[in-house]
Formats: sequence, structure tokens, C-alpha cells
Amino acid sequence: MALSRSVVVIGGGIHGCAATYYLSKKLSDLRRRNEKEDDGESQNPRFQVTLLEREDKIACSASGQAGGFLAADWGDAATDQLHKQSFELHAQLAKELDIKSYRTIPTLQVRGGKRNENGLGGDTPTWLDGEIASARLMDDPTRTAQVTPAEVTNKLAQAAENLGAVIKTGQRVVGVVMEDDCVTGVRVRENERGDETVVPCTDVLICMGVWSTLASQWFGLPADAWPITGIKSTHCLWKQREAVRNDPYALFCAEDGRFGTHLEVYPRSDGSLYICGIGGSDYVEGDRLKEGGDCERATMVAANPSRVEAGSSCLKSMTSEASDAPDEIGACMRPCAPDARPLMGPVPGIANAYINAAHNCWGITWGPIAGKVMSELILDGKASLDLSAFRADRYTTKVSRRGRKQQTSDVGEQW
Ligand SMILES: Cc1cc2nc3c(=O)[nH]c(=O)nc-3n(C[C@H](O)[C@H](O)[C@H](O)COP(=O)(O)OP(=O)(O)OC[C@H]3O[C@@H](n4cnc5c(N)ncnc54)[C@H](O)[C@@H]3O)c2cc1C
Repeated sequence: MALSRSVVVIGGGIHGCAATYYLSKKLSDLRRRNEKEDDGESQNPRFQVTLLEREDKIACSASGQAGGFLAADWGDAATDQLHKQSFELHAQLAKELDIKSYRTIPTLQVRGGKRNENGLGGDTPTWLDGEIASARLMDDPTRTAQVTPAEVTNKLAQAAENLGAVIKTGQRVVGVVMEDDCVTGVRVRENERGDETVVPCTDVLICMGVWSTLASQWFGLPADAWPITGIKSTHCLWKQREAVRNDPYALFCAEDGRFGTHLEVYPRSDGSLYICGIGGSDYVEGDRLKEGGDCERATMVAANPSRVEAGSSCLKSMTSEASDAPDEIGACMRPCAPDARPLMGPVPGIANAYINAAHNCWGITWGPIAGKVMSELILDGKASLDLSAFRADRYTTKVSRRGRKQQTSDVGEQW
């Protein structure tokens, strides 16, 4: 007879929503199998997954505001498997969940500067009509793609709900309830007075993006067990650019000393034009992420006006499509561990707790595969990928720091 499973996922970004979707799929299979095999003796085991998000909507953090660029073959030895498998899963999900923003897109490496009158050395979009010194194709155009991250994240949450998951927003998780080395519930802060309710669970999965760093102490681990920094940056968006809609290319621009930018430009299928990589990366950690800090929660993370100006000016120098001010500006944090690899696996020393966080600048690409393997780990006890490079105990004994100097810099973007 199957045992009841009640999994609580914390955080409504792409990682929480993808994990909730794949957990719900597996649990609904389990539910069906159990119903078929039920000989009348069973005690009606319960199969439930619940997602708890602090803000009042899903995808309000990096997963709603990122670029959404996907690359199949841009991984390193440890992450290549995540890139390749997730690239395939995005294409599958686009069909399964009717993700309208998904499409493959050619990607150019672009250098700004005096226009080369002999041509730019390859096919270029018509809207790249300004100061471009060179532009060359970076990869096989069928191996790079894009999505609008907010659409994917919301569709994963919606599909999970259709499979029976419970998605609750406005739920600030402040800790867990432990019995021996097992989690039995998740503590949710009810109000300013500090009243709490407990959501009981058989398993818990931490998907709180950069704020996952704060959760190590819930499990009695050292405060620096999961040293995740939030690398905060500003982005801008222009709406209704018809020329861009009709001739889509993603651009990776070389560092441009005139503006202090390292632009990434993503024309989206709805006709909008998005840029990030506009410099001024700000490394957020420690008290800034805690109660009272300026980045305590997703909706408090503010754009830097001087970087909006720099990014807009740089794009304007390259295309007449950005001659007016952006329609939207925003800022968010990408969660990054010192070795830039994700933390994916069991919480050290705890029988039924897991973490899936710190996916740095590839979190949208890796969302589907990370959610899928975490669902396998939690419900089957083993994952179909080798997760040894992503172990959640790799910083517990020795915390190494990122090689690059951490600083607030107005030059380029520090990936
Ligand atoms: C400017 C920028 C551009 C990017 N572009 C790309 C790209 O083109 N391609 C790509 O693959 N990746 C990209 N990324 C990276 C990607 O956006 C992130 O890696 C990914 O979105 C992280 O997802 P997440 O679900 O882990 O975290 P988040 O999206 O940050 O979600 C975490 C959620 O947890 C919630 N939460 C936190 N604390 C609590 C709590 N106590 N209780 C309940 N809920 C809580 C938060 O409110 C939030 O909703 C980009 C990142 C940035 C910043």
C-alpha cells in the first residue's frame, strides 16, 4: 500500500513552479495507480503538493523579469547535462502547456562603434541600423531559443494546479517544525504581530532563489552553509516594436566603454524589446536580504536610474527602435553561489528536506530539468542526472569565495 505524501515547495519562481508541476505529475500517476490497485483495504493515502509564495503573485522575482534566453550547448563539464536536457524540455513544455513565447532564435555577437560600410560580416536584422562595427552568428540558430519567463513560470503553476496542486500566494515562510531529524511542517507568518500557522508536510523543498541562503539555519546548519549572493541588476523594456517582431535576433554585445554596458538584447514574440546586462551589478547578501534590509523581498528590489540611462543610450546608439524612453524598467537578483553552480539535493543531515536554488544566470534555461530531477529525488529517492557537482553540503565545511572581486561596478555586467 502506498504511503501518503504531502510535499511543500517554498517559493513561486520558475524553480518552485517547475518542481511543483513535475511533482504533481508524478503524484497524480501515483494516485491513479493506487486507485487501480486499491483492494478496499487501503487507508486512502493522500498525495498532495502545495506551493507557498511570499508575494501576492507567482513570478514576481527574477523568474518574472529575466531575459529568457535558452542555450542548448553553453554549459561547462558539470552543467552541460542541465543545458541539453532542459533545452529539450522547454520545447516539449511549449507544446504541452501552450507556451506562446517559446521560439528558437538566431544569436549574434555584436560590437558597437563606427559602422563598417562594407557590411557587418553576415546576416543582420534590419532594425540594427545604428553604430554597429561587427555582428556575427554565435551558434547554430536551432540551438538557441527564448521564452518570456513570466509566461513559462505562470503556465507551470497553472498546469500544476490543474493536476491537483495547491498554490498559495501571500505566504511568508519563516521556518520549519522538526521532530528528530525530520521536518513535519512549515511555519507561515500570519501577520505583523508574529502569529504563525503550520502547514504539515512529509517533505519540503526550498526554492526561494537568493533568499534560500537564509533557510540553512531552519535546519540547524551554519548561517553560511548556503552562501548565495543576489547579483542585482536593472533591465528595461520597449513595447510594440514591429520591426523587431518581424526580424528577431538575440544580441550579445561586447563591453561598450562609452556607456559602461555589456548589453544582452532580447526581442520577444509579443513585439517588445528587452535589455539587461546594463552594468552596475550590486552584490546583495547578509542583512540586506533579511527583515528590514533593502532587498528583503522581491517587490522591494529597485532599479538604478543611472543604469537605465546608460542602457537606453547604448541601445539607442545601435537602433532607431529605442529612440524614446523605455516603457518598463525593473530590477531583480540572480542567485549565485561562489562557484556559480546550483545547490540541488538533500539538505545535509535531514531525512526529508531538499534545496533547489542558486541557478545564477541560467535559471530560466535550467528550470524544467531542475524541477524534474528534484521531483525524482523526492518521490523516487534517486535522480536521473548526476547531481554530485551541485551537492548542498559542499560549503558546510569549507566556504570558498568567488574568484572575482565583489564590488558595485558601473562597468559592464559581472556574470
Ligand atoms: C537580469 C537577469 C536576466 C536573466 N536572464 C536569464 C536568461 O536570459 N536565461 C536564463 O536561463 N536565466 C536568466 N536569468 C537567471 C534567472 O532569472 C534566475 O536564475 C531564476 O529566475 C531564479 O529562479 P528561482 O525560482 O530560483 O528564484 P526567484 O525567481 O527569485 O524566485 C524565488 C521566489 O521565492 C519567494 N520567497 C523568498 N523567500 C520566501 C519565503 N520566506 N516564503 C515564501 N516565499 C519566499 C520569492 O518571493 C520569489 O518569488 C537572469 C537573471 C537576471 C537577474
